[in-house]
Amino acid sequence: MHYSGFKVIKEALTGHKGWKPAWRDPEPQDRYDIVIIGGGGHGLATAYYLAKEFGKARIAVLEKGWIGGGNVGRNTTIIRSNYLLDGNEPFYEFSMKLWEGLEQDFNFNAMVSQRGVLNLCHTDAQRDAYRRRANAMRLNGVDSELLDAEGVRKMVPFLNFDSARFPIKGGLLQPRGGTVRHDAVAWGYARGADMRGVDIIQNCEVTGFRIENGKVTGVETSRGFIGAGKVGCAVAGSSGRVMAMAGINRLPIESHVLQAFVTEGLKPVIPGVITYGAGHFYVSQSDKGGLVFGGDIDGYNSYAQRGNLPVVEDVCEGGMSLMPMIGRARLLRMWGGIMDMSMDGSPIIDRTDTDGLYFNGGWCYGGFKATPASGWCFAHLLATDTPHDTAKAYRFDRFRKGLMIDEKGMGAQPNLH
Ligand SMILES: Cc1cc2nc3c(=O)[nH]c(=O)nc-3n(C[C@H](O)[C@H](O)[C@H](O)COP(=O)(O)OP(=O)(O)OC[C@H]3O[C@@H](n4cnc5c(N)ncnc54)[C@H](O)[C@@H]3O)c2cc1C
Repeated sequence: MHYSGFKVIKEALTGHKGWKPAWRDPEPQDRYDIVIIGGGGHGLATAYYLAKEFGKARIAVLEKGWIGGGNVGRNTTIIRSNYLLDGNEPFYEFSMKLWEGLEQDFNFNAMVSQRGVLNLCHTDAQRDAYRRRANAMRLNGVDSELLDAEGVRKMVPFLNFDSARFPIKGGLLQPRGGTVRHDAVAWGYARGADMRGVDIIQNCEVTGFRIENGKVTGVETSRGFIGAGKVGCAVAGSSGRVMAMAGINRLPIESHVLQAFVTEGLKPVIPGVITYGAGHFYVSQSDKGGLVFGGDIDGYNSYAQRGNLPVVEDVCEGGMSLMPMIGRARLLRMWGGIMDMSMDGSPIIDRTDTDGLYFNGGWCYGGFKATPASGWCFAHLLATDTPHDTAKAYRFDRFRKGLMIDEKGMGAQPNLH
């Protein structure tokens, strides 16, 4: 069923009787050519591109809960491609280009809004680092602008400029960055994949792998055994647990909790995304008016989808020092998601040593913006057994070879990336 303005008007005039469920609820078949574990953004996007771009059929996405119940529906919705390093920048810009055409491509309103992402700087050294990043972005053909304090004041005059402990010295702006309605991304990819014959099977937890002579032949699930020619794992925060079932116990990933916060609806005040440079705090405003904000991970390993008060306090302190007026807004909701923090802060899209088993993960707290490119590149790998050009660096062996893509320069400390 194609969605269009015409369809909306027709249904409005005929009692809304012609709408169909956006995707089917099929029973699992005995066997598929390709099984994707994880019905988050990345798993669904992979299935969509496998069917649409690579002409693959007999694909299933297995989701232990409901699609969109993981990080794809829990993040703070920011998209950007303002990276410094060569291993990352082309990949995230590929993703940004896919976001720009996504709604037309999968015929679903995901509210892609390129309202700009502004990273504030508060010291001369930070400004120099942003200048370097802005230049690296431009060398990769990506939009970037360096603003001085007056330029920032013109855009967001309500910030704390004058009596701040860390005065705002300027900012790095990516005008094409912005926000996207996160759960609509899961729904749009699910619907697009389903329309192309992909079985999306919810309430189907993968509980084990069947591996014979070094080759994966299928997965054990809460709904029985499902045979598979190839298996792609895209379970984000559950990566360690799921890969351990396949005997891969030393994944270069740790799971950490990250929290998000939303206030009551307010009149439009924040034009784009703003990140504070003197603490860990970032904020945007949703189309419903809520201020959506967050900060650092909680700093301990966890598989819980909720966080603790010390980070709540830390995030709120960051907000108060950046824009004191936020103290008058009432917090409506907060929650946590499980982050797959890799050792260098960059992701992995690669084959494993088990024939037919492929891995996608290590997205840290930046994987939402990567969803389209991650899906495309993982589909490319699954379909052709070769890495996509923009994802060539995202291999397991970079940790063994010392070829880290350490955007933050933090070393092998996942809690700091
Ligand atoms: C609070 C918060 C804020 C964030 N903000 C941003 C942001 O602003 N911008 C950004 O780019 N990124 C952000 N992120 C990160 C981003 O959300 C994640 O990196 C990304 O969503 C992870 O990929 P995914 O969508 O596939 O994961 P998920 O949606 O978590 O999908 C994984 C799925 O696997 C399923 N699964 C797990 N185990 C099994 C099993 N055994 N069998 C079957 N299914 C299984 C899970 O139920 C889940 O649905 C944020 C994350 C959080 C939590």
